[in-house]
Amino acid sequence: MNIVEQIEAVLEKGSIDTSPETRYVFRTDTTKFAGSPDVVVNVMTESEISKIVSIAAKNGIAVIARGAGTGMSGGAVPIKGGILLNFETMNKIISIDPKKKMAFVQPGVITDDLRKASREFGLYYPPDPSSSAVSTIGGNFAENAGGLHCVKYGVTARYVKGFKFVDSSGSIQKCGYYNDGNTFPGSYVMIGSEGTLGIVTEIALELIDDPPLHDVYITYHESLLNAISTVIKLKSTSISPAVIELIDKDALKAAVTYSGVTMPEGTEAVLIIKLDSYFLPELLEKEILIENIFSLLKVTSFKKAENEKEEQSFWDMRKAVSTSIKKLSSDKMNEDICVPLSNMYSFIESTRDISEKYSLKIVVYGHAGDGNLHVNILYDRNNRTESNNARLASEEVFKETIELGGTISGEHGIGLSKKNFMSLQYSKNEIAFMKKIKNAFDPDNIFNPDKIFNVTKG
Ligand SMILES: Cc1cc2nc3c(=O)[nH]c(=O)nc-3n(C[C@H](O)[C@H](O)[C@H](O)COP(=O)(O)OP(=O)(O)OC[C@H]3O[C@@H](n4cnc5c(N)ncnc54)[C@H](O)[C@@H]3O)c2cc1C
Repeated sequence: MNIVEQIEAVLEKGSIDTSPETRYVFRTDTTKFAGSPDVVVNVMTESEISKIVSIAAKNGIAVIARGAGTGMSGGAVPIKGGILLNFETMNKIISIDPKKKMAFVQPGVITDDLRKASREFGLYYPPDPSSSAVSTIGGNFAENAGGLHCVKYGVTARYVKGFKFVDSSGSIQKCGYYNDGNTFPGSYVMIGSEGTLGIVTEIALELIDDPPLHDVYITYHESLLNAISTVIKLKSTSISPAVIELIDKDALKAAVTYSGVTMPEGTEAVLIIKLDSYFLPELLEKEILIENIFSLLKVTSFKKAENEKEEQSFWDMRKAVSTSIKKLSSDKMNEDICVPLSNMYSFIESTRDISEKYSLKIVVYGHAGDGNLHVNILYDRNNRTESNNARLASEEVFKETIELGGTISGEHGIGLSKKNFMSLQYSKNEIAFMKKIKNAFDPDNIFNPDKIFNVTKG
């Protein structure tokens, strides 16, 4: 039997697709990287995944898991061909236990579907990547996704209480909650390992009580320094904002030009800040504190949303930034870095120097509260000099990030897009250690090969 026939023979509820159209659809994610899967399997059960991995292991074929394909580092791109496991068809919220405050989900559940379902029980699943309307919990697990509310509530890993995965021999491993709280040795390195160590088949997630009260502010600043000082001050108080988003002047200009956003003359930076609480007196106290900080720091002006419509207009402005930036050039490199808050101002100043050096526009915005910034280097893809300069500028951005004590990926992962920059951040020994972990989990290198780094078979 050939591979397709072998897979067909073990499928229980899933289906297989080798049509050129489907293989074309699954060739890439949101990046420019592309491959071509030999076969796409719309998986539906854990035991069929286990059998498919056994077949792949025996035949030395790559296995690539894919959620919604919203990844921004090429994680789900089948560059080595192989078997692509499409999790969109394994998308059940198995149960939500309001007493234990836990959710049990299949990997293909869409992030927002879990967030909505949790709210029906008065519970809240905080990690909210901006792609949450489309991204899957499996993809969030594999990238250890962050999001707007993660400045207060933490990223995906904080909520994972257990999971099951298929290892490289095809066996099903149970970790944490699924194994009486015990873990398969080192299993938590699976979170954020970008599908390179195993295939996750079920996840147990912690939920928290949904904070019923919140306020959303927008603040306008006449200088970037003033905006960043405000972020630092807010982080040093007990206010603990649930969201602190920063939008730099060029990102603002794009939003004003292309999305009809308006703001006071001379605005150089904007913050969108959300406060939340379980108790009204606490929220009111936070309001007084935050407004005192705004006046102490001479924030040019601020506005608290008076109703849902106004609040939505603040979020729409944040959304308008990413859509408007796309209109500024034929292409962009979207780097996602993190720097310590104390170095955020120096970092953004450096991006301006880099922008000048290479005559390229660089637009910065992002989850400023946890130092996670999206640095967009805009260029004309039909202009060879600009394309080359964009690559050089991007390398300088990473070097500057490391120089300032930061990290080359805040939340989008390494995948293919950043693997050449791993040595900027990690020593040879550190990379060798990571490769040992990969070899221990996956000695035949069948899971998502050539992502993060290249390894030789163990
Ligand atoms: C507009 C936009 C905004 C975004 N905003 C954010 C943001 O705010 N924060 C953030 O963190 N990210 C953000 N992202 C990036 C992306 O949405 C996240 O990385 C997300 O977690 C990917 O989920 P996915 O289901 O699309 O995964 P995919 O792109 O399909 O896959 C991502 C990785 O997960 C692996 N994987 C998927 N399922 C499994 C499984 N069952 N077992 C093992 N490995 C698996 C894949 O192999 C791949 O390596 C954004 C993307 C877009 C397009």
